Amino acid sequence: TTTVGILGGGQLARMLALAGAPLGLRFRVLDQTADACAGQFAPLIVGDYTDRAALETFASQVEVATFDFENVPAESAAWLAERVPVFPNPRALAVAQDRLAEKTLFRELGIPVPAFAPVDTREQLEQAVARIGTPCILKTRRLGYDGKGQFRLRGADDVDAAWAALGAQAPKVGLILEGFVAFERELSVVACRTRDGAFRTWPLTENWHVDGILSASLAPARVDAAQAQTAIAHARSIAEALDYVGVFALEMFSRDGVLLANEMAPRVHNSGHWTIEGSETSQFQNHLRAVLGLPLGDTRMLGHACMLNWIGALPAAGPVLAEAGGHWHDYGKSPREGRKVGHATLRADSAAELADALARVGRALGREAQVAPVVERLRG
Ligand code: ATP
Ligand code: MG
Ligand code: MG
Repeated sequence: TTTVGILGGGQLARMLALAGAPLGLRFRVLDQTADACAGQFAPLIVGDYTDRAALETFASQVEVATFDFENVPAESAAWLAERVPVFPNPRALAVAQDRLAEKTLFRELGIPVPAFAPVDTREQLEQAVARIGTPCILKTRRLGYDGKGQFRLRGADDVDAAWAALGAQAPKVGLILEGFVAFERELSVVACRTRDGAFRTWPLTENWHVDGILSASLAPARVDAAQAQTAIAHARSIAEALDYVGVFALEMFSRDGVLLANEMAPRVHNSGHWTIEGSETSQFQNHLRAVLGLPLGDTRMLGHACMLNWIGALPAAGPVLAEAGGHWHDYGKSPREGRKVGHATLRADSAAELADALARVGRALGREAQVAPVVERLRG
């Protein structure tokens, strides 16, 4: 049997372990907290990602390593890569964990991006706001997730407030200013590349965020074939430039028919959770296959799927489970504000049936607002 090591023990590691069970895989998970939810399914090593002793233990117990968490320090990933094969490679991880490096790469590859500028000082922030214009968003270059580490500037008057909010973090994690994109849609491509360079994507997904956190995903996204082809070509050129192995997601904004790349996630992604029940092969299964050098499974989808994220606390499972295509995922985490604690996927053969199922679930759970944009898209 092969033992796969995962750095980070959240719900992504948990779903990787569940997907790996039928392949006969064993797992070891390194996480900084003893109650990491992947620990319920795989032996946990508790230690800091920079702790050599913990990394040593981890490396000695695994044949190959991958990530559930993109912010593992690059030096730790590089140290590990000298001892066991690590996928994606540490350079890909380093690029994807820095918003400035990833946007610079996208631009070099000819992929359109929102206006951006690095910001290290207050003076640079003023200059960048003058150049990019408002509205704009100041973000930490590293360590941000779920919209954390961001400040939106409506006008040049907001420079003080933006610097007060994030300036102190500039020396440690770096800052970047981005033009605010008045997008019509947010889309993502979840893609997978093997060690031999085989490349596949799942159908494009449309995503809705609330307060910077993913709320709902719909696949296939209602986009024309040309736009889907462009998005897939962008994902492919990024994967090839980074010699990427495994699953990643490319998040994009669609505005006036143009796709602007927002960021990439060097791991399985929340906008691909619907693939567990909505596709022939899930993102978790294909990530493991890629990392292990096995052939990829088909990524075709089965009908239409919508994923709803449960943030903070789980609602009642009954209304989802009562649906023919309803699937429930409880991550086994304790409730906490802003925390992703589970998700549901609804799958149906037709868009109309999916819209009806979503409307029923939304009503039963008092979550009409969460399902409304998806229902509207499906019926529109
Ligand atoms: P994730 O949890 O996806 O990793 P994150 O914290 O890394 O999120 P982003 O994806 O950059 O942050 O931003 C979160 C959301 O905020 C985006 O999905 C989008 O809805 C909004 N947003 C971010 N940047 C911009 C922008 N330049 N213009 C318009 N909206 C934006
Ligand atoms: Mg991100
Ligand atoms: Mg994002």
